[in-house]
Amino acid sequence: MQNRKPIALSALSADFISELQSTKRFSGELRYDLTSRLLYSTDASIYQIEPLGVAFPRSTEDLITLIETSAKYEIPILARGSGSSLAGQAIGRALVIDCSRYLNRLIEVNREEQTATVEPGMILNTLNRAVSPYQLQFGPDPASAERATIGGCIANNAAGAHSIIYGMTADHIISLDIILSDGSTATFSEISLLSAQKIAAESNSITARLYRKALDLRSDYSEEIQKQWPETWRRASGYNLNYLLPWSPSQPPQWSSNQEWFSGNLKRLPYPPVLPGQINLAPLIAGSEGTLAVIHKAKLRLVSKPRCTILGVLSFGSIIEACEAVQEILLHEPSAVELIPQSLIKLARSVPAYAPLTSFVENIKVDEQDPAALLVVEFSGNEPAILLEKMRRLDKHIWIAESAEVQKRVWDVRKVGLGILMSRPGDHKPVAFIEDTAVPVNRLGEFVREIEKILDQYGTTADFYAHASAGCLHIRPLLNLKTIQGVTNLRAIAEQTVDLTLRLGGAVSAEHGDGLARGEWLEKTYGKIIVQAFHDLKFSADPKGLLNPGKIVDPLEMDKNLRFGETYRSVGWQPVFQFSNAEERQRERGLVEAIEQCNGAGVCRKSDGVMCPSFQASQEEMHSTRGRANLLRALISGNFPTRDFGLQAVREALDLCLACKGCKSECPSGVDIARLKYEFFNYYYSEPKHKRHVRDYLFGYIGNLAAIGHPFAPIVNSLLETNTIKKTGERLIGLSSQRAFPKMSTRSLHSQWKKRLQHNRPELYKEDVLFLSDAFTEYFQPHIGLTALDVLSKIGCRIHILPTQGAGRTLISKGFLESANKHGKRLLSDIQRLDPDGMMPIVGVEPSEIYTLRDEFLDLFSDDPKMLNISSRAFMLDEYLIRPGTDGDIRYSKLTFKDSGGFNQKVLFHGHCYQKAQSPAEDGFPMGVAASLVLLKAAGYSVQLIDAGCCGMAGAFGYEKEHFDFSMQVAEQTLLPTIRRAVQANSSVILCTPGVSCHAQIEDGTDVTPFHPIQLIAKKL
Ligand SMILES: Cc1cc2nc3c(=O)[nH]c(=O)nc-3n(C[C@H](O)[C@H](O)[C@H](O)COP(=O)(O)OP(=O)(O)OC[C@H]3O[C@@H](n4cnc5c(N)ncnc54)[C@H](O)[C@@H]3O)c2cc1C
Ligand code: SF4
Ligand code: SF4
Repeated sequence: MQNRKPIALSALSADFISELQSTKRFSGELRYDLTSRLLYSTDASIYQIEPLGVAFPRSTEDLITLIETSAKYEIPILARGSGSSLAGQAIGRALVIDCSRYLNRLIEVNREEQTATVEPGMILNTLNRAVSPYQLQFGPDPASAERATIGGCIANNAAGAHSIIYGMTADHIISLDIILSDGSTATFSEISLLSAQKIAAESNSITARLYRKALDLRSDYSEEIQKQWPETWRRASGYNLNYLLPWSPSQPPQWSSNQEWFSGNLKRLPYPPVLPGQINLAPLIAGSEGTLAVIHKAKLRLVSKPRCTILGVLSFGSIIEACEAVQEILLHEPSAVELIPQSLIKLARSVPAYAPLTSFVENIKVDEQDPAALLVVEFSGNEPAILLEKMRRLDKHIWIAESAEVQKRVWDVRKVGLGILMSRPGDHKPVAFIEDTAVPVNRLGEFVREIEKILDQYGTTADFYAHASAGCLHIRPLLNLKTIQGVTNLRAIAEQTVDLTLRLGGAVSAEHGDGLARGEWLEKTYGKIIVQAFHDLKFSADPKGLLNPGKIVDPLEMDKNLRFGETYRSVGWQPVFQFSNAEERQRERGLVEAIEQCNGAGVCRKSDGVMCPSFQASQEEMHSTRGRANLLRALISGNFPTRDFGLQAVREALDLCLACKGCKSECPSGVDIARLKYEFFNYYYSEPKHKRHVRDYLFGYIGNLAAIGHPFAPIVNSLLETNTIKKTGERLIGLSSQRAFPKMSTRSLHSQWKKRLQHNRPELYKEDVLFLSDAFTEYFQPHIGLTALDVLSKIGCRIHILPTQGAGRTLISKGFLESANKHGKRLLSDIQRLDPDGMMPIVGVEPSEIYTLRDEFLDLFSDDPKMLNISSRAFMLDEYLIRPGTDGDIRYSKLTFKDSGGFNQKVLFHGHCYQKAQSPAEDGFPMGVAASLVLLKAAGYSVQLIDAGCCGMAGAFGYEKEHFDFSMQVAEQTLLPTIRRAVQANSSVILCTPGVSCHAQIEDGTDVTPFHPIQLIAKKL
């Protein structure tokens, strides 16, 4: 069959732009600048195609107008959700329509019918949270549910770990309201064949033509479909023609289960998907990757949540052994069986946010070693005792997780798997192109054995993991696509894998779809006749080929349009941070690799957690971690017309980055934009034509300024409070007049401590400690510093306050990296002078400063062999107190906590972002937030952690005029409303946070004054 050439436009036409912008029927946004196009040129796949523009419809009317106008001007369009697709179906030379930004409402939930009606941009997890109070959920559970939109789930026919009970998304669609390629609308739901025939005969509308084609396919292709279809029900490739019959070669194993809970759900599950004599075109839209229609409303079937679940983990000596065990396990009627390879556990340990999740592996180690493969088996139902019994019957040595918390930990490791496996350093990356095959479960072991042989031929290996229960393994061979050999191997491995998969009765895609990676294999899979049927169906729905061209029908070649192809080149700049020597700690090497580390998986587009607050508040791709990484990559790989254009685009993208390190801790690939931001600004301002703001010097060198100004604190403080000064400050140097500035103290910490020292009793000293007094503790909050020193004295510390203030955080934040380097050298020489043996712990109370020693100093001074030792001795005071001292006793045990204010006094704790970004310590004791909680609990407080990300202040950021509103917007996402609610419910609740910025933000936003943890500890002494 001759491929139709997709319409190749170089840009949106001026007439189209002017018509869209002038019509009252379109209230959305249209962007066609290069930066926006680059931001939407990638998804989570290995491909990159620059779109023609990006539109953000605000309403269905907007969406209809967009499609109608595009049809008029023959502009290809591509509806998009979060862009987490792995096969390239969310990118193309088209006008991208981002449905995630505004079209994300929950329209209706019907508890009796167990249905939900939603707009396409609604995030799956948001839907699940909304229906959870009714004990309902959406059945298919893709691992990407925290950012995948319903539109994306439908168009990709997404499925997840529980597909053996719930099947795929196509099985849960009741009706779809769609917009067809000419802008006309239709609703597809179950109707009688007679009604379908009537619609088909009525007119020449696209709806009528689609019904005509569907009825023809049903009658004329039934035999061919049944002959050619893969034997597995787990299939997301080609169009769902089998749903028209309706027929399936097999079905999810648990759909025949008689168990009470399953059968309750079975009444609602759709095999057969429609009743005899009926037809529903909605499941046909599922898996069509936006090539048949654009969805604007979906009515979905929901399923009951199981009352309880139990997890068991089995260990195996090899992946093949694990795969061969699956069929037998399925006889026990589990609700999920997932494969986790050893490599995933090892990589998860290296990501701060995920490392603690892997603790369960300790229970299943074989000879102190991680097992080669794990099978995670889940049973679901109504009675915990029955589930436990089933688990024991499965294997009496199985390690069992009963509590919801431990189960979640195991699931989280599995869910972040794909992203983590992609985080490997170096140019050889685990590449997604055969990552989604499914074979009948009884052939799974054989399949893995054969794949290993294929990979061996090409001198590579791969990780295997995921939905073993459904015969669906995610396999990502390590390839260097920046070389011709890598690209040649890509095609060769794909061809052999496709042949193998088809020989074993499998499907080339089980849930991720065809996109650019697999469209080429449809003819091999289904044969010419069915592919012609796909073609006919597509062009009856989209006669001009405008909907997501090049996908499913007339596919593009799988080895073209690669993001990193053999012609890809990148050139960075000479960084100050020594990225390349940080291998042991970071997983990337060099500035360029640090930038290229983003794989596009889009975890940074989720709506909770610490990553990424600027995306959460703005919903803008540019202000997500991924957007920033993409623009940085565009800069170093010459995608901008001029370097200066690129520099300005990146500058804009980094402007709203709060440098909270949320990405460092939560991005499965370890993308660390905060570090790149410091480095970029240092580089950017190294060019004389780029002038710094005066306030950058003010903030960067605040320690030096405060040292000069603090003796005149009363005058300075009252001046800074006056409206005239505030307004002038706003006008002249861009400081927000809406902020109250922190008040200086006339007496610095050093001077106050000197006086107290006279009362100290040296005979009680048990341990020497270095205290890092930062500029804020020294000049603005010496009372907190003094409290900390008092507590340290009480446990018998001889305190040496370091003369250099802080670790240079304010300089680093403002990108004064050379100055930060000099400052750091001064501090290191002070540390070495006071502690030549390198034994003393270094303790402080301001997270941003202490963690600079643990983090950035390793990058600044990685060629200093003593640096690792210094960094591992740096602790926040609470981390220090919960660790054993030289006598082996936990240090805080020397403190006697009294019942002042009452034990169980409720404390609401907000963790500083850098606390949240801490990796687990080698000594196994808690770090960061966990350490604060341990100490506060030990003192008798009843502590509740606020589940929020960055406070939005982020050092100087919130004080800057143009950032004030955004800073408050970030805080209003979760933090401030949570505090207000808590204080309203219980006026005696105490707020606690260690960061000086968080303190100011909470005070400004709620009028509640928080305490530093050490103040609360002191209250109990
Ligand atoms: C780390 C990782 C793990 C993943 N795990 C899973 C998994 O377990 N199971 C699974 O099934 N998938 C998984 N995926 C793939 C992907 O996340 C899902 O398929 C998801 O449903 C895509 O949703 P999205 O909003 O990102 O869609 P996008 O990627 O934006 O779009 C997907 C397709 O839907 C089309 N589309 C979007 N909106 C509309 C609309 N309104 N009308 C018509 N077409 C539309 C697009 O054109 C595109 O073809 C994973 C991806 C990653 C990166
Ligand atoms: S920044 Fe991290 S989480 Fe975001 S898309 Fe890139 S790799 Fe994924
Ligand atoms: S540092 Fe924070 S704001 Fe910046 S990209 Fe990372 S998560 Fe987003």
